Amino acid sequence: MTRRPVVVAGGGIAGLSAAIAVARAGREVLVVERDAIPSPEGAGLQLSPNATRHLRDWTVLDHLSASALAPDAVVVRRGRDAGIIARMPVADAQDRWGAPYLVAHRADLLAALLAVASGISHIEIRNARAVVRFDGMETLRVELDDGSSVEAEALIVADGARSHLRQMFESGGETLRHSGRIAWRATIEGTDAPAFARETCSNLWLGAAAHLVHYPLRGGSIVNLVAVIADDNLRGSDGDFWSRESDPWALLARFRDWHADAQDLLRRAGAWRVWPLLQRPMPAALARGSVALAGDAAHPMLPFLAQGAAQAIEDGAALGRAFAGHDGSTAALAAYAQARAGRVARIVAASDRQARVYHLAGPLGAARDLAMRGVGPAGMRRAVDWIYRA
Ligand SMILES: Cc1cc2nc3c(=O)[nH]c(=O)nc-3n(C[C@H](O)[C@H](O)[C@H](O)COP(=O)(O)OP(=O)(O)OC[C@H]3O[C@@H](n4cnc5c(N)ncnc54)[C@H](O)[C@@H]3O)c2cc1C
Repeated sequence: MTRRPVVVAGGGIAGLSAAIAVARAGREVLVVERDAIPSPEGAGLQLSPNATRHLRDWTVLDHLSASALAPDAVVVRRGRDAGIIARMPVADAQDRWGAPYLVAHRADLLAALLAVASGISHIEIRNARAVVRFDGMETLRVELDDGSSVEAEALIVADGARSHLRQMFESGGETLRHSGRIAWRATIEGTDAPAFARETCSNLWLGAAAHLVHYPLRGGSIVNLVAVIADDNLRGSDGDFWSRESDPWALLARFRDWHADAQDLLRRAGAWRVWPLLQRPMPAALARGSVALAGDAAHPMLPFLAQGAAQAIEDGAALGRAFAGHDGSTAALAAYAQARAGRVARIVAASDRQARVYHLAGPLGAARDLAMRGVGPAGMRRAVDWIYRA
């Protein structure tokens, strides 16, 4: 490498997106990923047009389109009786929002990002190595867990919601807190799934203090399930049970008043894993000097708008634009921080609001359903224009 590299700590969705975009802006990039191979954890992701636009520009969609699926619509149902509350068409996302609306397995997205990153000669990927610290005023030095260190032009911290490096970035900053909600995730073999769950739609069921999301993946060969339940006993704890395999009896008990179709779907799932839904206020700035935060390390958010990965991808695109527009890394990262802060804060706040609305119970829940029906498909599409068109 001739010029000092931009080091990216973390080879997840944020890290690989940043690596591709920054390399396309002409910089040398070194990605350091703690795991030996991309983690297949996390099951399905809804990828809205604001994310797929960049994936398409980076040619990542060429590697993803065989396994991704384009749903016809997002269908919202009442948990109690399966009545349809609303239906938002998304099959024409390309025409309306300029890029497709897709659902994909997280492992397939990571593999597609990796295929593109591996094909760019000025990206080096170092697996099974963690970034442990960084320092230096004049020259940024990034230390790895094998005792080696790299002189870097800049460091992009993309080590996920449980970011260890963010503590160093903002010493004394806010810590991660449990939101009081848990996501249960599972997949069902397509052949074991009921017919309604195999339709090419993204489905959302709403109930009191709980909701259920399901959609087919990988050409319908599996169905992705996410059930989110509120548990106030956990609010504020550090939620230290990441992706733990769990017995679904507690989940089934929470859904026992739901329509038989929903309960049937939950019972057919194989192994369930639980994910605490974590929150952490955004830092005062997304960049300081030649170090910047991206993805969940910067802005972990509740998944109620399905925007965490999409925002990680947008962060990558913004980093690429910033490095293309500025020769110095400090100026580039300051421009990145300024470009992203407002939008990300707005998306985090909207996700929080959506969390409260989705889990309303009793008369408030009924009022929500009436309001959603009143808004109708056209109104629902208008409501997400500001997210999907960016
Ligand atoms: C239930 C649920 C449903 C979701 N659904 C959606 C959805 O439909 N659509 C959507 O857009 N988003 C969704 N999300 C959010 C999305 O999954 C995350 O926002 C996204 O995966 C964040 O990517 P990331 O790269 O920032 O972090 P991560 O995926 O956590 O990646 C961080 C990487 O850094 C590595 N790492 C950690 N420490 C170090 C270190 N010190 N040195 C080097 N490497 C390190 C890790 O091994 C990992 O590979 C959902 C989240 C949940 C919980």
